[in-house]
Amino acid sequence: MPWQAAHRTDTGRVRPQNEDSLLVRPDLGVYAVADGMGGHAAGEVASAIAVATIEQETERSAASGQSPFDVAADAVRAANAAILADAHQDPARQGMGTTASVLITPDDVRYRIAHVGDSRAYLLRDDDLRQITVDHTWVHEQVRKGVLTEEGARRHPFASVLTRVLGTEQDVLVDVIDGDTRPGDVFLLCSDGLTAVLDDTTLRLVLSRPDSLDARAAALIRAALDAGGPDNITVVLVAHVP
Ligand code: CA
Repeated sequence: MPWQAAHRTDTGRVRPQNEDSLLVRPDLGVYAVADGMGGHAAGEVASAIAVATIEQETERSAASGQSPFDVAADAVRAANAAILADAHQDPARQGMGTTASVLITPDDVRYRIAHVGDSRAYLLRDDDLRQITVDHTWVHEQVRKGVLTEEGARRHPFASVLTRVLGTEQDVLVDVIDGDTRPGDVFLLCSDGLTAVLDDTTLRLVLSRPDSLDARAAALIRAALDAGGPDNITVVLVAHVP
């Protein structure tokens, strides 16, 4: 497979623990970022259950000869059910939840993204950076209605209020986005600890550097820390190498 990946996660400068989780499985062509929430360390439990379930489900499909591509949304729904089941067993974990943004690259011509919440997937192509996912937040509903600007949404006191998340409802609507990929493409999966402090222009400038993928992942984390690092920061970079 013509894919390379790099990843980094950092607690940031303010939060006591890292509630983000990530998954990098180039052998399966499966990558994910999950950003957990909930008191008493439940957030990190929720995000860890999400990525573990997504890994199990896509592994199982690969083992049975089915492409992870075909089970992307099912894997996210299974993660939702697993979090609900875990919270049901432990009252301290009730109300925990997580985002999940999953990228599947089954071959060298197409990709699929399955997504819930306000983590993001971006695609850098020919120096152009495009956000592929839509944030499931109240402020981004206001952006889509034209009530708020992107910058206004970033600074809004309700910026982190989610309208869709894993772990709260039995049925969760999973966004599925399909596209074509070509050599030179770089995908970025990230938690909102990156995008709350760095705008798309900054992301594009760092991602376009002629450095190794690993150096660019590190530089993104460094830039978010330099901007204050108010939240946990997670980045997964997946490059289609020419
Ligand atoms: Ca976060």
